[in-house]
Amino acid sequence: MLIRLTVPTRRREALEEITDRVAQAVRSTGVSEGVCFVIVPHTTAGVTLNEAADPAVTADTINHLAEMVPREGFWIHAEGNSDAHVKTSLYGNSVAVAIEASELVLGTWQGIFLSEFDGPRPRTVLVKVIAG
Ligand code: ZN
Repeated sequence: MLIRLTVPTRRREALEEITDRVAQAVRSTGVSEGVCFVIVPHTTAGVTLNEAADPAVTADTINHLAEMVPREGFWIHAEGNSDAHVKTSLYGNSVAVAIEASELVLGTWQGIFLSEFDGPRPRTVLVKVIAG
């Protein structure tokens, strides 16, 4: 079963934590051991694992990524969102998380974040659980 979540994003660039929603989706499958894939089917939004305890980490990440890949500059793509496409490729569109006892196995500080680079808008997140 493929579970589809809709995640609203709040700003043009934002890391929206989705850990609890993914965990709930995993529990709904009844799978106790396996792997969970979190897939974002967009070209200007991705997904990442990073620290969920201190919001300063996500702010630093977004701010410094904007310095690395500035929105303004020479871009051939005419939509005005080339930086978002580049950032999405840097972040990637999927992560895998182990499942044990029907729960996500994450590090102490780890959370799952939808990585928005051209919002705000509703985004789709796919959750695929493989038992085993
Ligand atoms: Zn574009």
